[in-house]
Amino acid sequence: MRYVVLSDIHSNLEALEAVLAEARPEPGDGVLVLGDLVGYGPDPNAVVTRLRELQPLAVIRGNHDKVASGLEPATRFNHHARTAVAWTADVLTPDSRHYLSELPAGPVAIDDVVEICHGTPFDEDVYVFDDLDAARALRSARRRVCLFGHTHLAAAFRLADGGVRAVVPRRTAAFRVDVGGGRWIVNCGAVGQPRDGDWRAAWGEVDTLCGRVTIHRVEYDVEATQAKMVAAGLPELLVERLKLGR
Ligand code: ZN
Repeated sequence: MRYVVLSDIHSNLEALEAVLAEARPEPGDGVLVLGDLVGYGPDPNAVVTRLRELQPLAVIRGNHDKVASGLEPATRFNHHARTAVAWTADVLTPDSRHYLSELPAGPVAIDDVVEICHGTPFDEDVYVFDDLDAARALRSARRRVCLFGHTHLAAAFRLADGGVRAVVPRRTAAFRVDVGGGRWIVNCGAVGQPRDGDWRAAWGEVDTLCGRVTIHRVEYDVEATQAKMVAAGLPELLVERLKLGR
């Protein structure tokens, strides 16, 4: 089975289209969407529509989806994120808003090996940045390979011999992680707003037969997205960070 992993798309249609052009999900593949479909970017409705067209195998919500659809207040958001999510809530169609509000919380088991969550299996809003976070998350995982998002940073952690080992992906077009043995928690990076200093869109590919996760990076028309953000009046800092990958 092949899974195409999309996380933290954040209303970035250009990034999503570039990822889909490279990933080319086929009817037999499972598309997994790990939350934060909207927020920050200029195309929330178009992104929701495009993702629904793909008929993903599983879609879970992220913190921005909850706030944009009115399930939660933006109290935990910083100033710029709050401005962007208020703009998003304003432009969402009733249909998009309803879709986002009905998305299930993670974790969701995909098969006997793979599960997905937005932040961690024990709390969808908690971030996994380092080995300690990963160890805590791995203890609550119910599948051997747990895919997560939320940090916008590609990373892989393996639980082995009682300890956790981090594998930090190199900035190459494709980085492979052999998850054939052991317990893993893997972040394939953000489609729409990477924060590792590399502006290119990130997506993941899981090959369950080979026991492999591949993290891909693909260029997209970032200037087009930035121009739309400026036209929408979204915060300048959010426009700038997109090209910096921060
Ligand atoms: Zn996010």
